[in-house]
Amino acid sequence: QRVGYAVVGLGHLSLEEILPALGTCKKSKLAALVSGSPEKMKKVAAQYGLKTESCYSYETYDQLKDNKEVDVIYIVLPNGLHKEYVIRGARAGKHILCEKPMANTAEECKEMIAACNKANVKLMVAYRIQYQPHNRKLREILQKKEFGEVKMVEASNCQSTANPDHWRHKLKLAGGGVLPDIGIYCLNTTRFILGEEPTEVFAYQYSTPGNPLFTEVEEVVSWQMRFSNGIIANCTTHYNVHESRHYRVLCEKGWLNMDKAYAYKGQKLSQAKADGRMELQQDIGLAETNQFATEMDHFSDCIINNKKPFTPGEEGLQDHIIMEAIYKSARDGKPVKINSSQTNAALH
Ligand code: NAD
Repeated sequence: QRVGYAVVGLGHLSLEEILPALGTCKKSKLAALVSGSPEKMKKVAAQYGLKTESCYSYETYDQLKDNKEVDVIYIVLPNGLHKEYVIRGARAGKHILCEKPMANTAEECKEMIAACNKANVKLMVAYRIQYQPHNRKLREILQKKEFGEVKMVEASNCQSTANPDHWRHKLKLAGGGVLPDIGIYCLNTTRFILGEEPTEVFAYQYSTPGNPLFTEVEEVVSWQMRFSNGIIANCTTHYNVHESRHYRVLCEKGWLNMDKAYAYKGQKLSQAKADGRMELQQDIGLAETNQFATEMDHFSDCIINNKKPFTPGEEGLQDHIIMEAIYKSARDGKPVKINSSQTNAALH
């Protein structure tokens, strides 16, 4: 039994990662496409052997409700469109997989969760890192306290951007700048590996004056998250430096380091153990899996066996609550407390 996916939006992520990954899935398959470009969609449909009746425009999107081959709608649109298409998709009676960041604001996330609950469909946010073997292994090592107690996390996700006309640089479509686009990986992965929620954030944000890339959205955000058990996470995300994607967890008895931490592949986990005078560093050779196939098969498994996804809508909401606190702290120049009581019950 393979669960049928309608992929909405034929941009870079869909064309280069999601559609090829669907072909390698064990429990998921492509069942429909939704695009604003009929020519592009015709070519893609032919490439993946999809019939023309399974191709929809944004105007005919709601007709997906009558397509029995479609179980899941996968939203791969600019962030500012996620809310509308998730809610319409839920009303069509389909389960929803939504790309990160879940929406533009925490308020929108709440509406999306409510709409999916009302329609009795499942909602998952596509946090592929949480399904990636190296990151899962590291989380397990921390849970077993193999390196003693965790004391600090350093996380950084940086890249350079070049096109000021792209939707990522327009506030209405992106919801923010570098923070919701790639900084969210530092935030979400830190929460995932620690299995804890921050209680306070303190942040700094900057955009170079006169740079057309950053007239609407921010260029850099650097923030600290504090956890109730005294752990500190220092995170940085930048849109105007050479690519760098890593994190390091500092523990009482050693450290763990993840290079290429948030990349589509090539994660490299190394560790150093302080054991008397001896220090050991090694690569933990784990098999690479396709992260997109793994996450889609997880969601399909949840549908087949009626389980809650590992990264439900509440997980996306929690990141938005924290990102809003980060922006507030940067604006006010003061630490901001986070009240996670709303989401905690659903997450841990
Ligand atoms: P993209 O710009 O390559 O594609 C966006 C698609 O949306 C295009 O096909 C575009 O035509 C379509 N679109 C529909 N209405 C639009 C409008 N009003 N304005 C602009 N485009 C419109 O973007 P992408 O990189 O594919 O990102 C899509 C989503 O996937 C975003 O939410 C992004 O954050 C997310 N994403 C996730 C990952 C990941 O690793 N999980 C990686 C990249 C992107």
